[in-house]
Amino acid sequence: MVRRIFLTLILGSALALPALAEDIGECRFSRETLTFAGTPLEQATCLLRKVELGAVRKAQPLPPVIVRLMTQGGAPSADQQAAAIAAFPEPYRSYAAQYAQAPVSQTEEGLPLLYFVIHDTSHPFYKHDRFPQNLNRNLTVNDFTPYMNQTFAKAPVAHIFLNRVGQIWAGHEFQEPWRATKLESRVVGSRARGRMVHIETVQPRRFLPGATSRAFTHGPRPGFTKQQYRQLAALYIYVSARAGRWLIPAQHNTVDTTIPDAHDDPQNFDLKQFGKELERLLKSPA
Ligand SMILES: [Zn+2]
Repeated sequence: MVRRIFLTLILGSALALPALAEDIGECRFSRETLTFAGTPLEQATCLLRKVELGAVRKAQPLPPVIVRLMTQGGAPSADQQAAAIAAFPEPYRSYAAQYAQAPVSQTEEGLPLLYFVIHDTSHPFYKHDRFPQNLNRNLTVNDFTPYMNQTFAKAPVAHIFLNRVGQIWAGHEFQEPWRATKLESRVVGSRARGRMVHIETVQPRRFLPGATSRAFTHGPRPGFTKQQYRQLAALYIYVSARAGRWLIPAQHNTVDTTIPDAHDDPQNFDLKQFGKELERLLKSPA
């Protein structure tokens, strides 16, 4: 999520101090190798656990296509990247085509991009009001302006913003090492930049019944639109092709487990639907 966080510097440094050698969180991120523990398949299994209300994480089976990509190695073919670009709507399609051969981010120590992190924006926030009925066509919900105009931070908070219609705005080109999790910004620090790309999908929130804190909110069901699953799949193939490897898919919450005030996004992310769109796009001719 993208809301402004008022953590003090004191808390930030307190988090960074203890147990420097210890792995971070349930998926055991190593500060040395900047990698979660295990094989790509084991990492994806941990990072793609279902994030339920209150950030309760539940194991779930990976779609066969993701199991295949995590075990076979390799990278998307040129045809698969072309099919992904063809699936993008304009103007992002032309933008992506322009950078199709460009390198992607790496860390300051030269470690390559490895993780594709899915978020939900948790914006607009409706407090105790109902969600608008025409959520997927609502101009306020799908407006990119707040992500562009410093409503949340001086710079766009993620690489990509994907609204419910399937339109895409790039806040940072994938070449730019950027951070959007507490693991990167508050625990490991600038060394972690460049290891992950961040995709914000537009999904509003409102308070859970009786709640008064932003820690207790829920998104609509279904959370993501078909267009969002389709474009997430296209973005995943496109940036994996540029990285020269199948990136490991992850979610903001599973990256930040055990870190205080970790965000609970993405909510209502249906891994099966993501897998279905991925399968479909990988088979489609460019
Ligand atoms: Zn997030």
